[in-house]
Amino acid sequence: MGSGITQQAPSQQANVTITNQHKVVSNPVHGLVHSQYMKNMKKYGEQPSGAQLVQSLIHGNEHYRKNELYADQRDQTKSGQTPSFIIVSCSDSRCSVPLLFNRPHLGAIFEIKSAGNCLDATGIESIKYAIEHIEPPPKLIVVMGHTKCGAVTACYNSICQEKHHKLRMEFPSILNTIMEPTRHNIEKFGTGNKDKVLAEISEDNAKKQAQKVQFVFDEVLEKYGISVYAGMYDIDTGDVKFLKITDPDPKNDMTKQELEEMAKEAKQESSSGEK
Ligand SMILES: [Zn+2]
Repeated sequence: MGSGITQQAPSQQANVTITNQHKVVSNPVHGLVHSQYMKNMKKYGEQPSGAQLVQSLIHGNEHYRKNELYADQRDQTKSGQTPSFIIVSCSDSRCSVPLLFNRPHLGAIFEIKSAGNCLDATGIESIKYAIEHIEPPPKLIVVMGHTKCGAVTACYNSICQEKHHKLRMEFPSILNTIMEPTRHNIEKFGTGNKDKVLAEISEDNAKKQAQKVQFVFDEVLEKYGISVYAGMYDIDTGDVKFLKITDPDPKNDMTKQELEEMAKEAKQESSSGEK
């Protein structure tokens, strides 16, 4: 076993397709690689096999290894990591945290991922690890929800269709976590505007998980001066809004309005930079 899996083409026939993939994954425009690859596969009327997908990853990795920018970053981080952020977000493939905060750098973000950005024991222990074993510890923890979240939608649908007992059997931890904000927002807003209710549930869930972090690490946050925020990512616009949960530094005690103003300024800066 071991090395064979990464180096051998699965079959002669598959090799032909892999040759096509070579063209695609050799594209220097990284962001287009995956979507072009999938389009190509569709064009040939194929579903990629596991081995073909592994092959595409090998080529992606080759690009990464040869990119001098990342070679420098590997060099800078090879003796350890000092990320400033711990970000808990949904496993949804559209929630690519380093991309959406313009930080595609090695060592920038300590990431924790789970469906519905639910924090179970493993997630909490991951945060504990980062706080206690990274020197200096990251100074900001964000739990970020997002619009159009599949986990939230499944929970919402199961309650509306009274099928939550079935879902509870299949996904007990996720459902237990999201159930309360779902019920609360259905009671508050009804079921008339589904998108709005789903977004409210996601936001409440992110807040609830961020409050859990605050509760569990209370004194540790104070000791190391670590702030906790909830975040909400809009899949359509790309916008992330933040809500303060705790910030031990009084001079950072920004109100919601101040945060919004800061976000507005950042937008203005970036749009004037684009011109
Ligand atoms: Zn999600």
